[in-house]
Amino acid sequence: MPADELQRENVELRRRLAELMERARYNERVLARFQKVELRLIGIVSFKELIEAILEDYRDAFELDVVTLSLIDADYDLRRTLMDAEAAPEGFPGLIIFDRDVYLSALFGAGNQPVLGSFDPARQRVLFPAESPVPSSVAILPLTRWGQLVGSLNLGSLRPDRFAPGMATHFIEWLAAVASVCLENVANNERLKHIGLTDALTGVHNRRYFEQRLREEVDRALRKGSPLSCLLVDLDHFKSVNDRYGHLIGDAVLREVAEQIKDQLRLSDAMARYGGEEFAVLLVQTNVIAARAIAERIRERIAGQAFKLPDATQLDVTISVGIATLMEELRGADIDARARDLVGRADSALYTAKRSGRNRVATARGPTTRAAARSSSPPLPG
Ligand code: GH3
Ligand code: MG
Ligand code: MG
Repeated sequence: MPADELQRENVELRRRLAELMERARYNERVLARFQKVELRLIGIVSFKELIEAILEDYRDAFELDVVTLSLIDADYDLRRTLMDAEAAPEGFPGLIIFDRDVYLSALFGAGNQPVLGSFDPARQRVLFPAESPVPSSVAILPLTRWGQLVGSLNLGSLRPDRFAPGMATHFIEWLAAVASVCLENVANNERLKHIGLTDALTGVHNRRYFEQRLREEVDRALRKGSPLSCLLVDLDHFKSVNDRYGHLIGDAVLREVAEQIKDQLRLSDAMARYGGEEFAVLLVQTNVIAARAIAERIRERIAGQAFKLPDATQLDVTISVGIATLMEELRGADIDARARDLVGRADSALYTAKRSGRNRVATARGPTTRAAARSSSPPLPG
């Protein structure tokens, strides 16, 4: 081989070697970035944070132009969990929720195979909503748990050659697998949290939840200077309902009353079963006048319609309600003292309502002294 030809070949080999080295270094950087994202994802415990991380960190780490996530939520579990975490699904433009698996099942086919190639607006637009950039090529990956299709991870690039049919997919499938496992993990975590804060009989929140929210809402109300009212609701002569009709009917009445109270509240309010036949409500941004109107409405609603027993006899149920509103006057007292004072005063008002004949609403008088606010937990209403 002539020297100059050898020389040319040498240059060409060096160029290709440099190219390979560059690609290896690039892959190494991508891998390092991926591991970093993966570690972060594994450590996340809240749904909201995980969804944000999948949508944003995946996009940035892999130099994609758009990443969206679709999830199948047949029994509304996911949406309820998100609402519980005060994260409405609408707050995530890249999150698509399906009521049924029909669309995704058809898209992936029987083997749940990833779909790679040019973006097909007619079939895939639903996975890349209008607000996001329109990709040129996409990789749509099935998310599965225990063999079940649960959603899809949708990667889009403005480069037409970024994803093509027949490309090796093990790396992006790994991405999808990590996302699935992390989603399952936080879903379980949120479910556990939900169970721990829910009353098994009525399905409304329990006292533990109420105590948590009480602290948060008192803190928020004080910082914002907004009013906060508390209602304590107790069923009247409930013991005689049990005595006459039995505990099972008593339980059904409790469920019905819980439902009726909840129906009259806003999503931002907090309500819980506070004790045996007592419910506690926090009305955010609600002064005493508005709180009284709400309490009256709840009382009237329950007194106004008879509870139907299985044998069609009718049972009249009434409630008594005590109201207290957060007091500005208690300046200087800490959050816990103010929270105790609020519930304590609602409890005294409830006692007044009972003493003055039941089936009525009573409002707490002015602020108690600081010393009273510092005293230990309020007695249980009853
Ligand atoms: P008052 O009007 O003064 O509130 O009278 P009351 O009979 O409602 O008051 P009391 O506190 O004496 O009785 C409460 C009753 O609630 C006693 C208890 O058996 C009943 N109770 C508490 N928890 C449950 C429950 O989970 N299911 C049923 N069926 N009854 C319950
Ligand atoms: Mg009672
Ligand atoms: Mg009671």
